[in-house]
Amino acid sequence: MKLLDGKEVKLKILEDLKQKLLNLNEKLGLVVIQIGNDPASDVYVRQKKKMAEDLGYNFNHINLDENVNEDEILAIIDKLNNDDMVDGILVQMPIPSTLNVKRIQNAILPYKDVDGLTDINIGKLVHNEDSLVACTPMGIIDLLDYYNIDIEGKNVVIIGRSDLVGKPLASLMINRNATVTLCHSKTINLDFYTKNADILVVAIGKPNFIKRDSVKDGAVIIDVGINRMANGMLCGDVDFDDVKDKVSYITPVPGGVGQMTVAELALNTYKAHMLRKSK
Ligand code: NAP
Repeated sequence: MKLLDGKEVKLKILEDLKQKLLNLNEKLGLVVIQIGNDPASDVYVRQKKKMAEDLGYNFNHINLDENVNEDEILAIIDKLNNDDMVDGILVQMPIPSTLNVKRIQNAILPYKDVDGLTDINIGKLVHNEDSLVACTPMGIIDLLDYYNIDIEGKNVVIIGRSDLVGKPLASLMINRNATVTLCHSKTINLDFYTKNADILVVAIGKPNFIKRDSVKDGAVIIDVGINRMANGMLCGDVDFDDVKDKVSYITPVPGGVGQMTVAELALNTYKAHMLRKSK
């Protein structure tokens, strides 16, 4: 078994990006809008801030009260859309269920949508056109590419159909000529699919859910889950110790996909800047 080391790949991506930024000689701007104070979101926003500041981006964290009015959020987004110093805007998920998430996401200009969640960017992804793509699924593709793991023709099984991970990843994999099966909580006989997977991606948020008996010999395992255990430790959706001797590659948690997500946000901010300048 070989580890797919997200930290190593992130450092490589950020090193390459730093070179591009030196040539650019401009300060990029990234804004994260957080609504309410979800503790996990606090951690993710801190990671994004650190990444942005390490790269010399201007980072603005707008933290709104959970009772904020939807029109107020839309007015803030409109202002950021028209701000020339802002390259990328993202709304940290989850947001309070009283708000219309699609309306808020779609208010962001597609070329500033560094989370790739506007209908326009999702449509472009489905049509295999160049677009800003959600960071976690893009990170998975870049991780596989870094380790020269073929995607074309492979049986790719993804468990989890969220807008943030499973659905965009399915499109990315189809665009790379994989044969894709997207499973979810209503899938009957999940093992039937997982046991046939050359590449198994698990994004469900259930600690140590996938065991040795559910995976194929020599499979590539991508564990997206981040679960905090009672002892404070993080673990994935795959039982790492149980499967590690049976598979060819596996991502650790932490240190795998999560690292890639941050790197892809840095890349998307750069891409968003270049897109805007080309308009
Ligand atoms: P989500 O929106 O809660 O979606 C979970 C998905 O898992 C749903 O599609 C659900 O099916 C499916 N599911 C739940 N239980 C299942 C079961 N027993 N069997 C089969 N499918 C099942 O989750 P998410 O936002 O995609 O996140 C998933 C996990 O990834 C979480 O642990 C999250 O923290 C982590 N995550 C990590 C990163 C990273 O950077 N590493 C980024 C994003 C998320 P239904 O659709 O039928 O309900």
